[in-house]
Amino acid sequence: MKITGGKVFDLERGFVERDVCFDGPLLTLDSKDGHSYDAAGCYVIPGLTDVHFHGCRGADLSDGDPDGLQTMAEYELSRGVTQICPAGMTLLEEQLTKVCKTAAAHKREGRPGADLVGVNLEGPFLSYAKKGAQNGDWLHAPDVAMLRRLMEASEGLVKLVSVAPEEPGALDFIKEVAEEVNVAVAHTTADYDTALAAFRAGAREVTHLFNAMPAFTHRAPGVVGAALDSPWSRAELICDGIHIHPSVVRATFKMFGRDRVVLISDTMRAAGMSDGEYDLGGQNVIVKGPLATLADGTIAGSVTDLMACMKTAVSFGIPLADAVRAAAVNPAKAIGIFDRVGSLEPGKRANVAVLGPDLELKAVFFHGEKVV
Ligand SMILES: [Zn+2]
Repeated sequence: MKITGGKVFDLERGFVERDVCFDGPLLTLDSKDGHSYDAAGCYVIPGLTDVHFHGCRGADLSDGDPDGLQTMAEYELSRGVTQICPAGMTLLEEQLTKVCKTAAAHKREGRPGADLVGVNLEGPFLSYAKKGAQNGDWLHAPDVAMLRRLMEASEGLVKLVSVAPEEPGALDFIKEVAEEVNVAVAHTTADYDTALAAFRAGAREVTHLFNAMPAFTHRAPGVVGAALDSPWSRAELICDGIHIHPSVVRATFKMFGRDRVVLISDTMRAAGMSDGEYDLGGQNVIVKGPLATLADGTIAGSVTDLMACMKTAVSFGIPLADAVRAAAVNPAKAIGIFDRVGSLEPGKRANVAVLGPDLELKAVFFHGEKVV
């Protein structure tokens, strides 16, 4: 297969005109099978990686349901999200174990849909005061032994874990596990100094920057300032047009630079469904258009998939090449899979999305097969 005539995402130069070739599951320098796809006037980009979404199409990772997880993987693939690292909510360890075992079995059995490249444990090591849409009854102090049990249940799939650094034992927890898993600062009341201590202890990510944390102000820069001052860290950003004001999206790309922003969708099960009432980690969520809220009005995840979030970022003024980097390159780096996916160099997986001039999804190639 030769994808011809398109503007192809390039790590150094933004977009370049060249062919993208593959005759099997990996990208190659040339193609000999005689097939071609005309991408004239289109953008050719790597398949995206979503490291933080809970569910879609009526299913949620937290259900621990094998068929639900497959539904999620298939939906994400249909949207050009070729790698997924779905997130669990704050749940009891028993349910989190079931979630991790379900993910491990999904991977082992090679079920269809986007590649399951990780599990993100957003809960339970979070702050009650900033729980957002997490269920407060099931929060737990940071616990290395519990994390290791869950890692084992997931057969090594846990790639991200969120922690509120002001919780008892959090800094020791971060130091202990930072080599094994990407620790993210999240759902926290931490001030600048506490957050800085977390990054110095080994945290490398911020879970949905600005959401569920103190604001960034001139005398109290909080987690946002501490992350900025820790250049090894990356910041997740929900770019659904609801969670973050367009001006703050632009400011974040300027402050953190294009290499440190990780676009995430944070979708819950209503993504890809119609308006109505849905469950999110044991709580009722009302969905109307792009807005998902608890009964008290708390924003509860999004319903905008990552490809649509990337398009939204562009509509806010982020250059397309930077938005692609934030949705394909940086998330792959965050969970350690950039050697296999996330750009269009020969040798990487032939996971490719083709977008029309208005960024509408035209085609998805997955392991070298056209699936959309
Ligand atoms: Zn959250």
